[in-house]
Amino acid sequence: MKTYRIAAIPGDGIGTEVISAGVEVLQAVAAQDGGFSVAVDHFDWGGEYYKAHGRMMPENGRDLIRRHDAILFGSAGHPEIPDHVTLWGLRLAICQPFDQYANVRPTRILPGIVPPLRHVNGPELDWVIVRENSEGEYAGVGGRVHQGSPLEAATDVTMFTRAGVERIMRFAFALARSRPRKLLTVVTKSNAQRHGMVLWDEIAAEVAREFPDVTWDKMLVDAMTMRMVIKPGSIDTIVATNLHADILSDLAAALAGSLGIAPTANLNPEGQFPSMFEPIHGSAFDIMGKGIANPIGTFWSIVMMLDHLGQPAAAARLMQAIERVTADKTFHTPDLGGSARTAEVTRAVIGALSGANALG
Ligand code: ATP
Repeated sequence: MKTYRIAAIPGDGIGTEVISAGVEVLQAVAAQDGGFSVAVDHFDWGGEYYKAHGRMMPENGRDLIRRHDAILFGSAGHPEIPDHVTLWGLRLAICQPFDQYANVRPTRILPGIVPPLRHVNGPELDWVIVRENSEGEYAGVGGRVHQGSPLEAATDVTMFTRAGVERIMRFAFALARSRPRKLLTVVTKSNAQRHGMVLWDEIAAEVAREFPDVTWDKMLVDAMTMRMVIKPGSIDTIVATNLHADILSDLAAALAGSLGIAPTANLNPEGQFPSMFEPIHGSAFDIMGKGIANPIGTFWSIVMMLDHLGQPAAAARLMQAIERVTADKTFHTPDLGGSARTAEVTRAVIGALSGANALG
């Protein structure tokens, strides 16, 4: 029997709560499937680790997880540590060296969830956002000089490479092709940013020729926010830069009902390194330790992980179980207007899994 080695990095805040719920659910899916098992190693990296050791993860941290089949990540962030330190010290310190260049964010309105846009009926909003995850605005190129003096200056240089844009465009077109509508929107800002974003547009047009069966269009990022709100049904797959997709996917999560539901996969599609799966929400210190964090974003991320590991049947069963649970308002956490607790939602999903099995 195949055993998948999973590295769990709960991180900070509600990260620890949703990942422990996620590991319970993952073990239940494996036990129910019977065809594979999971061995989970826990790593206590994050803000508390930083306070004790002066860094977010050990120097050889990546070596410790390099050979795992996948990484399940919670959230990194600490009220006493600047956000750029926690982000670059852990999440980006894994994503970038492991070349997880495709960040995939599905958005759907799950059964039972009332979205904030009352004019949208559920099935209309069914998107996948592909975020370029290795360069662009988050390339890390830039610097600060003359700190503290009136001459102080700082730059963040947005960097696009032909190789980087080509591979994310190919990934996005291929993903769009695999979905029923075969529809891709390339988000850009090439009217104002006349170098990198023009390269981005040109490469999109080149790669589009390899996918004649995919219908695609181009949209300025500002106009895209309006289209997402006003005409959500006109969108299917979206590809955008690191920064643009970061912003659009928070909007997408809100339009689908709650940040607590939305999942993400950081993929190294070639499989040279492990891919990483995480809910898109952050550490949410305002609700930490209260036992009310919505674990659905983590569970849906585990669905993506199972698909990636080559267990589509188990993935589909878990998704079905999640949807049964969201359909029942008794199991809505406070972010969805309910009063359920993390542990109750977790037990309900595990219970629905056996129901899903019985149905076949
Ligand atoms: P970060 O900078 O770490 O991304 P953030 O402050 O931008 O964090 P979150 O920590 O994700 O954002 O929280 C934003 C809001 O959404 C908070 O009010 C938080 O309580 C709520 N929230 C986020 N995730 C969840 C969840 N899983 N369950 C319930 N509420 C959540």
